[in-house]
Amino acid sequence: MQTLVHRAQKIIETERQYYLQLHPHSVALSTRASEHFLYGVPMHWMNDWGTPVPLFVEKAQGAHFTCADGLDYTDFCLGDTGAMFGHSPPAVAKAITGQANNGLTAMLPSALAANVGEALAAYFNLPFWQLATTATDANRFVLRWARSITNRKKLLVFDGCYHGTIDDAMVDYTMRDNTIVDVVDGKTTNRASLLGQVYDLSLHTTAVPFNDLTAVERELATSEIACLLTEPALTNCGMVLPEAGFIEGLRALCTKYGTLLILDETHTISTERGGWAKAHNITPDFLVVGKPIAGGLPAAAYGFSAEMADHMKSAKDSAPAGHSGIGTTLSGNMMTLAAMHATLTEVATEVAYEHMLKLATSLEQQLAASIKAHALPWNITRLGARLELQFCVKAPQNAQEARDAQNDILESAIHLYLLNRGVLLTPFHNMMLVSPATSKDDVEKLARVFNDCLNSLMQMQ
Ligand code: PMP
Repeated sequence: MQTLVHRAQKIIETERQYYLQLHPHSVALSTRASEHFLYGVPMHWMNDWGTPVPLFVEKAQGAHFTCADGLDYTDFCLGDTGAMFGHSPPAVAKAITGQANNGLTAMLPSALAANVGEALAAYFNLPFWQLATTATDANRFVLRWARSITNRKKLLVFDGCYHGTIDDAMVDYTMRDNTIVDVVDGKTTNRASLLGQVYDLSLHTTAVPFNDLTAVERELATSEIACLLTEPALTNCGMVLPEAGFIEGLRALCTKYGTLLILDETHTISTERGGWAKAHNITPDFLVVGKPIAGGLPAAAYGFSAEMADHMKSAKDSAPAGHSGIGTTLSGNMMTLAAMHATLTEVATEVAYEHMLKLATSLEQQLAASIKAHALPWNITRLGARLELQFCVKAPQNAQEARDAQNDILESAIHLYLLNRGVLLTPFHNMMLVSPATSKDDVEKLARVFNDCLNSLMQMQ
């Protein structure tokens, strides 16, 4: 491993120089943008890619985009799921163009609202819906509903979770010596990287390890937990799949202890058409989806059962008139509804998923074959159209195992090597997504360049 990391470090140095040669326009744009944007980017995290300067995008279509230097990229990052159905899917572009001259936002429901409600209910198997602008907001709103319905204060999450910039879930599971571990006597602490949070989040949030029903039951048995918020598989600390029966176990425990189960399917919508819960016949109390739900336009939605809808109405009706703390002005605007309707009915179809899953399976096999041929102790984890390269032999079972398998230097070397050869992966934990627009050639290109990268890693002196 030491030798491998040492070689990876050398690859990073060479590739960073090569990147600068390849991208003079991105370098110039970065310099200019830095005059008025913090770190030279519209959002500070756009600077976290490991490239010497950010890659500026000129245009994107389908599974490809062109950078400011006119180079073509096959995109397996796909906006970290925001563009999971391809960049500017034609049906979404048409819906947006059609709506653009007929009003963007009105503080009133557009005439398409009933159709969108029907489409969401059919797509995810939950009868009632509300919209938000981001998955972060949808989670925040659901949490507020859950606390007001149950009259309980606490939230239970899993170590390694990410549900957007919702503060309540920004916790880690930490040992007394400050290392993050997954042992039973760990405690919940504010995430060390969180800026400007002055409250002790552990007062109202507890984190436990994923795939540990005993730890979950111990917390739920306190009867203090309003809701359990989780992704069906953790996808933000490396990918951690649920063990057989784990989510079913959560469902049963939540019902037993009067805790609401919230499944955040923002990333696990990659599983199948309708998401993980539908594919596994689980009915959560609330389900959250964001990112690709309007084809790349900012939008999110949360669905819930008829029972929850009744509870929500009585919570709202019995509260004094005024701000509920739920909603933002532009959520559910006319433009979003048009894009969401097109995405659900014309883009994210059975046929699209069939294509995505078939190609993702083929990609998994090709990458695994390369890893095996190089005798590397690595693993590819896949959830439908989402794949992840992990530096461990066996897929991790909780966040700590996923963290132990992470190696920033190896990740960065692979990422840069591929990027300089026209293939884009997600920068942190090397995640790959296959879209309806991804072709067999795109997949073969990634497999080939990945294999070349492993050759370089193994052969370098
Ligand atoms: N939920 C999950 C599972 C996510 O991965 C993310 C973002 N990566 C979010 C919610 C938040 O999405 P957004 O940043 O669009 O609010």
